[in-house]
Amino acid sequence: MSKQSKVPYKIYLSEEELPTAWYNIQADLPTPLSPSLSPQTKQPLGPADLTPIFPLDLIKQEVATERSIEIPDEVRELYRTFRPSPLYRAYRLEQALGTPARIYYKYEGNSPSGSHKLNTALPQAYYNRQAGIKRLATETGAGQWGSALSIAAKLFGLECTVYMVKVSYEQKPYRKLLMETYGAEVIPSPSRLTAAGRRILAEHPDSLGSLGIAISEAVEDAASHDDTNYALGSVLNHVILHQTIIGLEAKRQLEKVDEYPDIVIGCCGGGSNFSGISFPFLHDKMRDGRKLRAIAVEPKACPTLTKGKFAYDYGDTAQLTPITKMYTLGHGFVPPGIHAGGLRYHGDSALVSQLYHDGLIEAQAVFQKDVFRNAVFFAQTEGILPAPESAHAISAVVEEALRCKERGEEQVILFCLSGHGHFDLAAYEGYLRDHLEDVDYSEAMVEEGMACLPQVQVG
Ligand SMILES: *Cc1c(COP(=O)(O)O)cnc(C)c1O
Repeated sequence: MSKQSKVPYKIYLSEEELPTAWYNIQADLPTPLSPSLSPQTKQPLGPADLTPIFPLDLIKQEVATERSIEIPDEVRELYRTFRPSPLYRAYRLEQALGTPARIYYKYEGNSPSGSHKLNTALPQAYYNRQAGIKRLATETGAGQWGSALSIAAKLFGLECTVYMVKVSYEQKPYRKLLMETYGAEVIPSPSRLTAAGRRILAEHPDSLGSLGIAISEAVEDAASHDDTNYALGSVLNHVILHQTIIGLEAKRQLEKVDEYPDIVIGCCGGGSNFSGISFPFLHDKMRDGRKLRAIAVEPKACPTLTKGKFAYDYGDTAQLTPITKMYTLGHGFVPPGIHAGGLRYHGDSALVSQLYHDGLIEAQAVFQKDVFRNAVFFAQTEGILPAPESAHAISAVVEEALRCKERGEEQVILFCLSGHGHFDLAAYEGYLRDHLEDVDYSEAMVEEGMACLPQVQVG
């Protein structure tokens, strides 16, 4: 009997096998991260710069260098309600492609909020409650992060205020209603509740908002209320730490069927699900010299890694957040209107950026029509409707699997299916009715974006 026929469709771990610690890749980086800088002084950040908006435990995780960090019991208990997540063997996708590659995917769409984001929302809510915080403020674009934080806040007895980009607030009523059902207050941004919002509205009364503006409002709300902190759904080191639960589980699941990936793939917005699935394997690559390709997949319309510059930049449009060394298209970047809201961010995680700069990971950019073609193909073979973000990873998987077919190579491909697309059917409609446009990112746009990078002395 061949190896393939022995592997089940779904590889489970028991609740008892849930990892007890997250993996902190900062312990193994060949090049340590450059320090983040204060937006006011442009000098390296100290903890005091962050305490107005984050609890100390998360600030510590941001700079921690120990390899493994224990998951608090209360968080682990809530993880157990939806984790370990299943690892699927994509037999029907393989068959439809006629590839000798063996494809596995970790499905994060089974979480109550529908994506991997709950993996970090829960510990963030936990550490904030431990610190005596009463309310969390955050921003959301497409609504996936806002939904995850809303339920996490409720489970830990916190209030939650979500500044939702106004255009999404108006066009995605169901995500807004989901957040309200979980007990959050959802405010269309820009709003009159913050100075940042009022400033924008004075200049542009009809502003439809942007992620950058919504971040500014949420940060201001948190900084100006003692009982309120801010929470971010991607990019930061502590977020990425929490997401490594995905790859840690996947590694154990693959061990059960005696497999190890040749290629690990994740879509990349801020970098958290890609890091989550790939970092525990990159550990083996960096420490034991294991051969492994890790591929971050981004939209052609927002090609942060493939066309951006590795430079110090702000995390938001209003220049309120720290300045971080990362791949960036420039904080003034206005993303073209593509249908994967979770991937429209001008920057990238500092960790992903450093690894890419050091040549330890690869990046690819894909056009959205290809993304939706592969999303529909995946739905029709595997049955799961992927989030448009996740379908970027699927596009790269299909390409690699077809390359394996051409060369007759039996590679093992693992990818993260970061969420389901049940709230994204309007985007699917756009594809099915042939209303989607492919947007490339020109050299002129790259240059224009770079014009606003801050001047700094460090790094
Ligand atoms: C937010 C989101 C992403 C992008 O964020 P990362 O931090 O890059 O993972 C990808 N997929 C889904 C389903 C999301 O909700």
